[in-house]
Amino acid sequence: MNIFVTGGAGFIGSHLVDGFIDKGNTVTVYDNLSSGKKQFIERHLQRDNFTFIEADLLDLENVTKEIKDHDVVFHIAANPDVKLGAQQPDIAKRDILATYNLLDAMRMNDIKKIVFSSSSTIYGETPAFPLPESYGPLLPISVYGAAKLAAEGLISSFCHTFDMQGWIFRFANVVGERGTHGVIVDFINKLRKSPRKLEILGDGRQRKPYLYVEDCVGGMLFGFEQSNEQINIFNLGCNTATEVTRIAEIVVEEMGLTNVKFTYTGGKRGWKGDVPQFQFDISKMKKLGWKATVTSDEAVRKTTRVLLDTNI
Ligand code: NAD
Repeated sequence: MNIFVTGGAGFIGSHLVDGFIDKGNTVTVYDNLSSGKKQFIERHLQRDNFTFIEADLLDLENVTKEIKDHDVVFHIAANPDVKLGAQQPDIAKRDILATYNLLDAMRMNDIKKIVFSSSSTIYGETPAFPLPESYGPLLPISVYGAAKLAAEGLISSFCHTFDMQGWIFRFANVVGERGTHGVIVDFINKLRKSPRKLEILGDGRQRKPYLYVEDCVGGMLFGFEQSNEQINIFNLGCNTATEVTRIAEIVVEEMGLTNVKFTYTGGKRGWKGDVPQFQFDISKMKKLGWKATVTSDEAVRKTTRVLLDTNI
């Protein structure tokens, strides 16, 4: 297959690219390196079946030219920082326009398949039961979540209007090697600066599922290969979850620290737009024959180890 990966130089995108190359596919990465890193795809740069294009999806003319002759698009590019939306709400505007441009470039080149990295944040403030893909109304509380929901809407509308096919994966919190942001990275950085104290955002009781990046990428590929509706929507997570204070304890243990004083900024959310607790209903992926290989706590510990080893 000839695969176009937006955001392929990022954390999750680069793992996806590794998998595609291992299976002998031809891959084009289209990434503006706003949060991605060239070093994540360095090992592929000299291969004949790999092309890196450093460019922005906001440039419609360019993406329309570069996307030509691909069989499928994996749309992974976005600003990944949910917190940032409260300071810079225009991240939503850019990400929505980027998705629109990509779909329009696909339409103009007659490319029919798109796979999208959505997020649990589209569900908004959620009730205390595992959420199925059919849950509604969908009322995100972060501008990041709003941009993801808008992208899902655009994908659905292009699929129906222009006879395309879409696979939408709503990720839990994804962690692992090459992670550049999020709570584990934050705690490691803070503890490296001040090993005796750790400030935790919110009350520390926020509780979410953490999915290991290899499971995320494996799940996406499995869902893509095993489902064939016009629109295929899946929650992608594990059926366990980890509290923020537990993450702090795991990071402290793995760094070999003792007597670290935890302080809390207070309130039930880490930041404006943070959904303090959620749990996915993952039975749809399970029915298809897929489940995560590690629990949420194991994903957190494995990530802490690998990030400490690779010296983020
Ligand atoms: P990341 O920042 O490492 O990857 C995003 C990539 O997109 C980066 O390489 C960045 O340079 C690129 N990019 C951003 N805007 C672009 C544009 N306009 N044009 C071209 N390239 C652009 O983040 P990640 O954690 O790997 O996230 C990947 C995707 O998964 C994102 O869409 C994110 O919203 C989604 N997601 C991530 C998580 C998570 O926990 N990491 C959870 C849910 C959804």
